[in-house]
Amino acid sequence: MKILVVNAGSSSLKYQLIDMETESVIAKGGCEKIGLEGSFCKHKANGKETQINAPMPTHKEAIQIVLDALVDKEYGAIKSMDEIDAVGHRIVHSGEIFNDSVLLTDENMKKIESLTELAPLHQPANIIGVNACKAIMPNVPMVGVFDTAFHSTMPEKAYIFGIPYEAYTDYKVRRYGFHGTSHRFVSNEAAKYLGRENDPNFKVITMHLGNGSSISAIKGGKSLDTSMSFTPLGGVPMGTRSGDLDPAIVEYLAGKYNMTVTETITYLNKKSGVMGISGVSSDFRNLSEAAENGNKRARLALDVFNYSCKKYLGAYAAALGGVDCVVFTAGIGEHDATVRQAIAEDMEYMGIEIDKEKNAHITDGICDISGAHSKVKVLVIPTNEELVIARDTERLAK
Ligand code: ADP
Repeated sequence: MKILVVNAGSSSLKYQLIDMETESVIAKGGCEKIGLEGSFCKHKANGKETQINAPMPTHKEAIQIVLDALVDKEYGAIKSMDEIDAVGHRIVHSGEIFNDSVLLTDENMKKIESLTELAPLHQPANIIGVNACKAIMPNVPMVGVFDTAFHSTMPEKAYIFGIPYEAYTDYKVRRYGFHGTSHRFVSNEAAKYLGRENDPNFKVITMHLGNGSSISAIKGGKSLDTSMSFTPLGGVPMGTRSGDLDPAIVEYLAGKYNMTVTETITYLNKKSGVMGISGVSSDFRNLSEAAENGNKRARLALDVFNYSCKKYLGAYAAALGGVDCVVFTAGIGEHDATVRQAIAEDMEYMGIEIDKEKNAHITDGICDISGAHSKVKVLVIPTNEELVIARDTERLAK
């Protein structure tokens, strides 16, 4: 079976074509500037990258260009479109309607559309991506895999906020959590690696640290709590997002800087986090370099990030009643040894110890960086959200 995985954003569309027999990527790429001047598609197959410059007024043209690229005689990966057995779409929000991936029938699409209010920036783009694929491949099964669904197992006490309960019953204001596909994947990988796949007591804290970051407490493969919240703005400070704040700050800053509420939320989404603190960059490579060269605000931004993540380790160990394994994943979690070191430092009292040498020399695949006396296993696991989407798509399309 060959599955096309599609991740549609407002002006972009990323894709991977995965051969499920070997679970290998046979082609991948992304279209950018959809609906804008100068749109292009970067396509990679057979170890070769090709850039296709073509107008893409809508996602429909973008999908057509991707399909043409996939079957192209020169740089394609398959002979005909018929080889694509199913398409898996990343969808941001499942609300309280879905707790698993679903076939994208007309009925389910209506339900997904009804959740737009909860993710006004992302859900419409995801829906446009699905509709564009459906228009061009009407007979190919489509599956939606949600960012939030994995967290549907959180107990009420973890998802209800300290505001009137009617805000939840009337308007569904609650914690949803995001990055579910990644937390699910790496926690499963950790359980397999440690031989605890079906153990309902396996307690793991997964740290997805990338441009957006979230941390989850997972027991027996079920999410019990997670740091992102009603939207991906909650939790730890991120590349450009503030993370959790005293809500009174919104009104105060809106007044001081003469911003509307919407502008203030944009400020918290796009100008805050380590970018805002440092004034240097949202990219951890640039931050580390600046900090090493004596930039104090870059150092401070890293310290705030690491400290905030460390507090979640303590909090989630308490929530889980102990912890067997900590997993680092995503761009920063997989690649930034100093961040991992700082987060896990001085936690021997909790049974967490990392081996400095192993931490500094990560190998491919799953890497155990636990110290010799660490009671808690500390692992670095590359995430693979596309593979999860492809596996779910295969399961449901069959
Ligand atoms: P997203 O998928 O949320 O856009 P990623 O998971 O790709 O983000 O993570 C992006 C972050 O990972 C950036 O801050 C980047 O600096 C960081 N990163 C990537 N590679 C490295 C590296 N080798 N060392 C340190 N940080 C890295």
